[in-house]
Amino acid sequence: MAEQKSTNITWHAGHIGRPDREKLLGQKGVTVWLTGLSASGKSTIAVAAEAELVQRGHLAYVLDGDNVRHGLNKNLGFSPEDRTENIRRIGEVAKLFAETGVVVLTSFISPYRADRDSARELNEKGDFLEVFVDADVATCEERDPKGLYKKARAGEIPEFTGISAPYEAPENPELVLDTAKLSVEESVAALVGFLEKQGYLSP
Ligand code: ADP
Repeated sequence: MAEQKSTNITWHAGHIGRPDREKLLGQKGVTVWLTGLSASGKSTIAVAAEAELVQRGHLAYVLDGDNVRHGLNKNLGFSPEDRTENIRRIGEVAKLFAETGVVVLTSFISPYRADRDSARELNEKGDFLEVFVDADVATCEERDPKGLYKKARAGEIPEFTGISAPYEAPENPELVLDTAKLSVEESVAALVGFLEKQGYLSP
């Protein structure tokens, strides 16, 4: 739990509520939290699902691990403490997006169960969908699009998830996408179909 450092602060409510924004957008805000090993396919699926949703007339936005580390979280590394703070900030940002009525797709390894649970707790019930992008280490290592597994095996990247740092698989994810079996298109169809069935794509 992050420390509350500031005092003498008061929440200032707006005149427009979340239902007004959701009516405007014709959808419900939600955080779709993709978690899985590096190269499991989180970013690939997130950007493809974002494009599919926008094409269908829905406002969607991807918060991507590497992208966020270029800006908001540029002062954080990959130690357990920094990973926890990384996820806490993303959880807060995702919550703002969901409250705006956006379908936000987050693409972070987020290896620790407790951190993902904290991100879930920040969000209103029903606003947070944990999606396990499930591919075994061997499959991910074979893909290795950024050559990171190769570097990790050579000892050039310390604390690399799946090799020298743990990955705690979700116990009760809302959705599992086994990308060793599903194509990108099939994963996107499963994800968008799930959102539709659960009523997120109507106001
Ligand atoms: P992550 O965001 O989880 O680190 P990326 O999406 O960046 O993963 O990388 C996954 C890589 O695996 C991409 O190069 C993608 O083209 C490839 N890939 C091959 N098959 C699949 C699949 N079925 N689903 C998702 N990605 C796949």
